[in-house]
Amino acid sequence: MKKYLFLTLAMVLAFTLAACGGGQGDQNSEPEITEPEHEHAWTEANYQEPEICTECGETGDGPIPPGFLSSGFSLSSHNTQYDYKTATYLDINVETIGQVTLTDVRIIEGDDKREAKEGYEWQIAQIKIELGDAAANQYGTRTRELIGLDYYDFNLDDTANDFEEIGSDEAEESYTVNFYGVDYEVECYSDTLRGEWVGNSPNAVYNLEMEYSFLVPVGYDGVLIAVYNAGNFTEGADEVPLEDLLDQDTLWFRLK
Ligand SMILES: [Zn+2]
Repeated sequence: MKKYLFLTLAMVLAFTLAACGGGQGDQNSEPEITEPEHEHAWTEANYQEPEICTECGETGDGPIPPGFLSSGFSLSSHNTQYDYKTATYLDINVETIGQVTLTDVRIIEGDDKREAKEGYEWQIAQIKIELGDAAANQYGTRTRELIGLDYYDFNLDDTANDFEEIGSDEAEESYTVNFYGVDYEVECYSDTLRGEWVGNSPNAVYNLEMEYSFLVPVGYDGVLIAVYNAGNFTEGADEVPLEDLLDQDTLWFRLK
């Protein structure tokens, strides 16, 4: 907009100069202003849209950049196996390294387990974890996943206590996201589909399959699942800010 104003002023100036230079122009004539000047009536920018003038439709600042982008973390891809470093069960100071994959991402309106809701959709994904190195075989495994953090409104000042930690068979959680300037309540359910050792020690592999279901506004693309080192989660860890809990080894999956 500023650029446009500048151009307009420059044209007016050129016109005036030309008029003066010619010496024959009518110096009292006003250049015609084709667009009515008005004070822009800006809407508020949100994560999806910039501020927009409700009178002329011009766009201003925004959209607001996603908080995740300035977090220093990066996103992991779907259907790709990543190394997953975590603590063992018997000794939290001993590390095991296995693999984690986000698979079977799908969107449904609803089904027997998940009730449909007007204006919402279910975004579903599975996390598959395999841990089977010598440390895992000797000491067992611990895993930690975190839901409730949002790609746009990403804030690690919160404590883990504010979020649902997935350590039990089933957990549910709700939180708020903002999509096109409107707040929506997101619901999330997790389900353990599988959690078993396959094979015999010392070559056994622990297979964990979790299914996550998020009820989000149709088209929402900010759902995150974090998989992180369970060794970071020591006693009292649910009271410390998430930035002390989640390190650079944390795997971040964005559902869409
Ligand atoms: Zn305007």
